[in-house]
Amino acid sequence: PSGKRIALVTGGNKGVGLETCRQLASRGLRVVLTARNEARGLEAVDGIRRSGAGDSDVVFHQLDVTDPTSVARLADFVRDQFGRLDVLINNAGISGVDRDPVLVAKVKDQIEGMDVDQRVEWMRENSKETYDEAKSCITTNYYGAKLVTEALLPLLLLSSSGRIVNVSSGFGLLRNFNSEDLRKEFDDIDSLTEKRLEELLDLFLDNFKANLIEAHGWPTGGSSAYKVAKAALNAYTRILAKKYPTLRINCLTPGYVKSEMSMHMGVLTPEEGASNPVKVALLPDDGPTGAYFDRNGEASF
Ligand code: NDP
Repeated sequence: PSGKRIALVTGGNKGVGLETCRQLASRGLRVVLTARNEARGLEAVDGIRRSGAGDSDVVFHQLDVTDPTSVARLADFVRDQFGRLDVLINNAGISGVDRDPVLVAKVKDQIEGMDVDQRVEWMRENSKETYDEAKSCITTNYYGAKLVTEALLPLLLLSSSGRIVNVSSGFGLLRNFNSEDLRKEFDDIDSLTEKRLEELLDLFLDNFKANLIEAHGWPTGGSSAYKVAKAALNAYTRILAKKYPTLRINCLTPGYVKSEMSMHMGVLTPEEGASNPVKVALLPDDGPTGAYFDRNGEASF
């Protein structure tokens, strides 16, 4: 067995996840690049090998973060191959909105002339939130990260410096909530439990269905489910950090990145975006835990 640290990235076939894999490999880590689609994942691994990042110590394994069987198979693979895991990066995510592909294709030519506010506004106006999309968003962005984390925790606890890095978003910050009570509940890490957090997610979906999001002070202004799912991921990060003090467990935003999720409207390249998860993954053993990082460093929830 090599002395290299072993990192695993979810949603590693494109965007921020792919670049995170490439950069961790160049820093000398052994990387397990995972993707829900095997062909796309293998192609991504090939691309990293061809680009010659580090000695390209990257292996592929299939992982759909919403599929318990797939998650269990992945955990078996990591246990059999490496006997432990040093870094888990929960990066896989979806936007939770429907967009008209014709409009998306058309706007690509106009992006350069738009400032960031105009881009965000365009996205909001042209993204449709449906109940099914909202539900999938919470299933993938919160429950998916939790499923993968729980399956790999025993292997992370066998590492001498286990790290969990949750790729969240500025959209998950509590200032996006309009209800002071909800803000307090998500922020009260001394009493918040996973059970209560998930009751709140159920309540959000019920309110969504009944068209009561605004009335109850949930985030508005587009991408409500995404904002709530990322806020829940942040809260989960803090709950876990308290529960497992020997690990370093943090969350972050990669910044506004040109990727499929942002319809390439972002202002950073995926390489630039990935530098934040990589930085947080490689923080020293006595570094912070239960913290949120924006591109300037540790920031408030
Ligand atoms: P992309 O859409 O480019 O990549 C998302 C990745 O997640 C893809 O690999 C996708 O796989 C994967 N994924 C989605 N659902 C699942 C699933 N069920 N199981 C496994 N993998 C899945 O987006 P980004 O690279 O921009 O996003 C990466 C992360 O960064 C996300 O968590 C996002 O919320 C966050 N982020 C992005 C920002 C931005 O501006 N782009 C801003 C703030 C946060 P597939 O190719 O199969 O669809």
